[in-house]
Amino acid sequence: MRLTVVGCAGSFPHAGSAASSYLLEADDGGRTWRVLLDLGNGASGPLHGYVDPGELDALAVSHLHSDHVADVVVLNVYLRYHPDGPRGPVALFGPVDTPQPLAEIAGSDPATDTNGQFEFSPWVDREPVRVGPFEIEPVRVNHPIEAYGMRITGPSEKDPARRVTLAYTGDTDDCPALDHLARGVDLLLSEAAFVEGPADAVRGVHLNGVRAGEVAERTGTKRLVLTHLVQWNDPAVSLAEARRTYSGPIDVAAPGAVYSL
Ligand SMILES: [Zn+2]
Ligand SMILES: [Zn+2]
Repeated sequence: MRLTVVGCAGSFPHAGSAASSYLLEADDGGRTWRVLLDLGNGASGPLHGYVDPGELDALAVSHLHSDHVADVVVLNVYLRYHPDGPRGPVALFGPVDTPQPLAEIAGSDPATDTNGQFEFSPWVDREPVRVGPFEIEPVRVNHPIEAYGMRITGPSEKDPARRVTLAYTGDTDDCPALDHLARGVDLLLSEAAFVEGPADAVRGVHLNGVRAGEVAERTGTKRLVLTHLVQWNDPAVSLAEARRTYSGPIDVAAPGAVYSL
């Protein structure tokens, strides 16, 4: 499977990146399967550069902060009013309350609500769902609202007979669940919204580079990709923090980056 970074800006879109969104693709059974992880503010724009969103098999939402879910509403408009006829339905996985904020962002307007274009199923903690060759296990994590990381297994790009695993933290501070989420993964896509300093005194919200590195190290992660950096963070500082605690290869996510597993 391959991961494309659609947007990786933390908390709000930046000049050079939309908010969180990641495209996962895998070839199986003579076709390409596509799962989108989150669709934050502004991310539906660059998404069109990578895929016709009508060809998404599923949209998997980590939690209901707008930097992870806001653009689902405008993606719905694209799907519903496409000149070739309505597209979808696209499977939508997320916290149990997902339809409610989407309806509110849509102005509770039946013309733009998400009914019809999405087929919603709520996450159940640690109960995997299948989408084609992907198995996606939601893992409840440590954030001020109901939030899930996702542990995703799928066919290797180099050797399709082999299964590989990617973990995406969504938004979370460190917690025991991350040991389950990330154990032995080929790639850990980890948020690192905070850097060490006064703002980092607030716990239960976000990781910093040090804690993301600690998670990667103790779970035997093979490769760490830091994401969800906030505009005022210096990526070099986040990278240096993670290098203090993780001995494997580390990248900072950038829009358009592709990771082939
Ligand atoms: Zn966020
Ligand atoms: Zn959040």
